[in-house]
Amino acid sequence: MPVCHIKEYSILQRFEDINSIRKALKPFWDSKRTVGLIPTMGALHEGHMSLLRQAKQECDVVVVTIFVNPTQFNNSGDLENYPRTIDEDLALLREENCNFVFLPTVEEVYPEDYENIKVDLSPIDEVMEGVHRPGHFEGVANVVSRFFKIIEPQKAYFGRKDFQQVAVVEETVRQLNLPVEIIPVETLRASNGLALSSRNKRLSQDELEKAAIIYKTLNYGKELVKQTVPQDAIDKMKAYFENSSLKLEYLDIVDPKSLASLNQYWVPGSTACIAAFCGEVRLIDNMELIPND
Ligand code: AMP
Repeated sequence: MPVCHIKEYSILQRFEDINSIRKALKPFWDSKRTVGLIPTMGALHEGHMSLLRQAKQECDVVVVTIFVNPTQFNNSGDLENYPRTIDEDLALLREENCNFVFLPTVEEVYPEDYENIKVDLSPIDEVMEGVHRPGHFEGVANVVSRFFKIIEPQKAYFGRKDFQQVAVVEETVRQLNLPVEIIPVETLRASNGLALSSRNKRLSQDELEKAAIIYKTLNYGKELVKQTVPQDAIDKMKAYFENSSLKLEYLDIVDPKSLASLNQYWVPGSTACIAAFCGEVRLIDNMELIPND
């Protein structure tokens, strides 16, 4: 008798409106099974897939949202140029056996009667990205809490690549008392150290190579920990970065909780954060310089 091989697979279910995804999630909520959420803006890559793989291991059903949230863009050109690759995104999600993908319209996420949430994000939104992208974190806090209300996940996965975003989301959850566990996931990097990012799709091969200076500078920061104080390390890292063709927007070393700049003393979890332009494309990255115990 011929042996019959049955390949196990799950079919990706796609939803565009709130009612239909909530209907599909109801049996999972009712039976107390673990719902995992991964909010994204699409143009998916292996970094997103690492979040998905972890969520698949820890949850009974995983929802990926793809929504280019207009309220977190402070620059209309950046919003227009944000890469949109929906067919490739869906193919990747199918390959990784994602269960549900939610692709809402702007009107679905922000209906006419939508009211902004009330959270006070200071001081964490007053530094770094908060200074250079006014209104960005208010947009992030709103869209994330909106998705938490719609999907009601027990666990939500965020990349450490967006270090300050993780702090903002954790603070939002704390202030709104939302019943969701925030799970930060390590940054996935290309072989030259460049953090994977949807924005990398806009870089040429030459730029992709040059952008590795960000990672090299962060690594240099690790060496400096043993030699000097944070303020001096920042100056040395900036001088090292100056040799590149990228344009530095900020480079700081911060306390991992308050995100306050460190000057004279290192603390556990001291983290170096960089934003820089490679041509027109703005890239961010960070590295923990001292383990957080
Ligand atoms: P985005 O689509 O850029 O909003 O990213 C969606 C989620 O994926 C965010 O939580 C990001 O921090 C995370 N993410 C993006 N790039 C990476 C990466 N290289 N490694 C790990 N997580 C990432």
